[in-house]
Amino acid sequence: MNSFFSLITKNCRKFKIYPGPDPKQAIMGSLVFCIHHKQGCTWSDELRKLKAHLNVCKHDATQCPNKCGAQIPRIMMTDHLQYTCTMRRTKCEFCQSEFSGAGLEEHAGTCGQEPIYCEAKCGQRVLRGRMTLHKSKDCTKRLRRCLHCNREFSADTLALHVNQCPRAPTVCPQRCDVGPIARADLEAHLRDECKALAIACSFKEAGCRFKGPRHLLEAHLEANAAAHLSLMVALSARQGQQIQMLKSAVSKLSINFTGTLLWKITDWSAKMAEAKGKDGLELVSPPFYTSQYGYKLQASMFLNGNGPGENTHVSVYIKVLPGEYDALLKWPFSHSITFTLFEQGAQSGQGGVAESFVPDPTWENFQRPSNEPDQLGFGFPRFISHDLLYKRPFIKDDTVFLRVKVDPSKIVAV
Ligand SMILES: [Zn+2]
Ligand SMILES: [Zn+2]
Ligand SMILES: [Zn+2]
Ligand SMILES: [Zn+2]
Ligand SMILES: [Zn+2]
Ligand SMILES: [Zn+2]
Ligand SMILES: [Zn+2]
Repeated sequence: MNSFFSLITKNCRKFKIYPGPDPKQAIMGSLVFCIHHKQGCTWSDELRKLKAHLNVCKHDATQCPNKCGAQIPRIMMTDHLQYTCTMRRTKCEFCQSEFSGAGLEEHAGTCGQEPIYCEAKCGQRVLRGRMTLHKSKDCTKRLRRCLHCNREFSADTLALHVNQCPRAPTVCPQRCDVGPIARADLEAHLRDECKALAIACSFKEAGCRFKGPRHLLEAHLEANAAAHLSLMVALSARQGQQIQMLKSAVSKLSINFTGTLLWKITDWSAKMAEAKGKDGLELVSPPFYTSQYGYKLQASMFLNGNGPGENTHVSVYIKVLPGEYDALLKWPFSHSITFTLFEQGAQSGQGGVAESFVPDPTWENFQRPSNEPDQLGFGFPRFISHDLLYKRPFIKDDTVFLRVKVDPSKIVAV
């Protein structure tokens, strides 16, 4: 230690010591960046100049001049003063009133001059301060009551409703003296009350042409009872004719044109009993045609027989009836006729009794028939004996089937 001290002392004595650079001066002279370098300030200079730089550095925070208490980087100050400073002076853009920043925030959303959309969704923008008035007076969505029916409608649909409102008053289209009538009651008025509406007489269908106001109709009906009655009689006669025409049209539609009649005779035992009690009781078949434009024929049957078969046999006959096409047909009728009485049931098969004949050209029965209803038939008085009839299964379910077949070939077929 001593030796070191002495060395310095020695040195001090021996050498003139020049003052070295002042360390403080040296530090102050070192090159530095601005403390806001990272925020983007590019300033760089001696440390001693930093303080002066910070007084102007865009990135350094300073007190807001409005004394709102905020420390704001200079670069943001204009924005702060304009927009965010709570102490800034500003104007509401709608009413132009002056506010501090905080006051404006409170004012926003309540300004009476701000246009806002109508809450009733009518699509209009209205100043907030006029909204109540709008909703009660102009808004197309405000509710209004129909004066006639008292129901509520939005203002824009009320007119349409009134045009159809069932309670809206209308005048009678017949201009009768009744006052305004609710639209819904008009139909009943015209139907039941209207004095001006001309109504047709209730005998119109029968041909009465009277048409007049309701109050005259009753007098008309009273005065014309006899005339109405004769109109009705004539109407009923016309309808009777129509029914006849329809009947004949229907029977034409159902007539058989095949040349073969299968005649089903039901209630056999009752009919047989009746035939036994009544002489000459003849059962006739539905008429049929030999072809579409052919001869009209009808079969008949005496259940208790007639002529040589009386009381012992069933007799069958065919007769020619006056037909639609007789004028065009060849006379005398000369087709062969076969009668077959069928046995019924599976065991006996389709057996039966059959008889045929070919008309002789000289027989009167087959000349063209006149319109006399009682033409004679031709056939077999002893077609089948009652004995055989009940021996074999010809009758089943009290029903008998007789087939009458017409064959233009003249060959007698069984
Ligand atoms: Zn800076
Ligand atoms: Zn401020
Ligand atoms: Zn305002
Ligand atoms: Zn509105
Ligand atoms: Zn209404
Ligand atoms: Zn009327
Ligand atoms: Zn009449």
